[in-house]
Amino acid sequence: MAKLWITRPMTAAVTARAQAEFDVDLRQDTGVLSRAEMLRALRDYDVVMPTLGDGFSAEIFAEAGPSRCRLLANFGVGFNHIDVAAAQAQGVAVSNTPGAVTDATADIALTLILMSARRASEGERLVRSGNWPGWHPTQMLGQHVSGKRLGVLGFGRIGQAIARRCHHGFGMEVFYVARSDKDAGFVATRMPDVVSLAREVDVLVVAVPGGGETRHLVDAEVLAAMRPEAHLVNIARGEVVQQQALISALQDGRIAGAGLDVYEFEPEVPQALRDLDNVTLLPHLGTATEEVRSAMGHMALDNVAAFLAGKPLPNPV
Ligand code: NAP
Repeated sequence: MAKLWITRPMTAAVTARAQAEFDVDLRQDTGVLSRAEMLRALRDYDVVMPTLGDGFSAEIFAEAGPSRCRLLANFGVGFNHIDVAAAQAQGVAVSNTPGAVTDATADIALTLILMSARRASEGERLVRSGNWPGWHPTQMLGQHVSGKRLGVLGFGRIGQAIARRCHHGFGMEVFYVARSDKDAGFVATRMPDVVSLAREVDVLVVAVPGGGETRHLVDAEVLAAMRPEAHLVNIARGEVVQQQALISALQDGRIAGAGLDVYEFEPEVPQALRDLDNVTLLPHLGTATEEVRSAMGHMALDNVAAFLAGKPLPNPV
């Protein structure tokens, strides 16, 4: 029987199904795979379910040599931690879990938009400090979100789900950047480049995949194009935003605030960022609900099952 390795503890539902259907080893560690573990994954298992941070680079595939592993069934839609070309060159297929994550991640983007614009983190810290002097008409004035202009960088499944919420829920006007025209079912204006998008909007949300092509797409020039009252939200991947340039822009008050779910050198979050009041910091919560993590696990296992039955992968990348 083919051997499966699941590289992180899963929800009870996903664990039970994996044990019922497959010859599976369940890794109990919640940290990312070490180099030695990645080599073992490729050499000792037929199928592996890796996830965020498991860096299956070209060097790892080269060092592992001809591998027993034939499928990396990634748990998550983002697969920028896997060098897909190097995997395929070694005969290792890769799948992911699109769709299962869309609504939950869009919800976290809305959480960050509102928290950043309305200074919710700062306000909560004030109440917890015991130093809140009480309500007054000019206390902690933030930005009104309703009716404002939203910019979405990366207008795919998650980007459009964010825009839908902002358009229908908050009457926001939507602008976006993607590589091709999209029909979101409501008016959304495609902008020619990220700087033009940044210049136009009150809230700029990053929703492109990570990887070489999108690294530092939001750099000092883009941040300089944003209005001083605008907010930046990143729910995509940390490396899409040049973190040091963002810290400078926030320190100098050149933008009003930022809401982050992801970080350039995750899980490291620089002290300079933690010291700032005008940034909301979440620990990569995008898909963190029981239902969604189970749906992601089932989708990954559906790919494992199809692969082992010799059928086409439902979600190849
Ligand atoms: P998707 O449907 O593939 O959408 C990606 C969008 O980005 C598409 O509109 C695509 O444009 C655009 N894009 C790609 N490369 C681009 C580039 N170089 N310049 C401009 N636009 C570009 O993906 P998704 O399901 O929405 O997921 C997006 C990302 O969110 C994932 O890859 C993952 O990294 C991240 N994510 C984060 C969390 C979290 O927990 N925070 C959870 C889930 C996902 P075209 O369609 O025109 O090619």
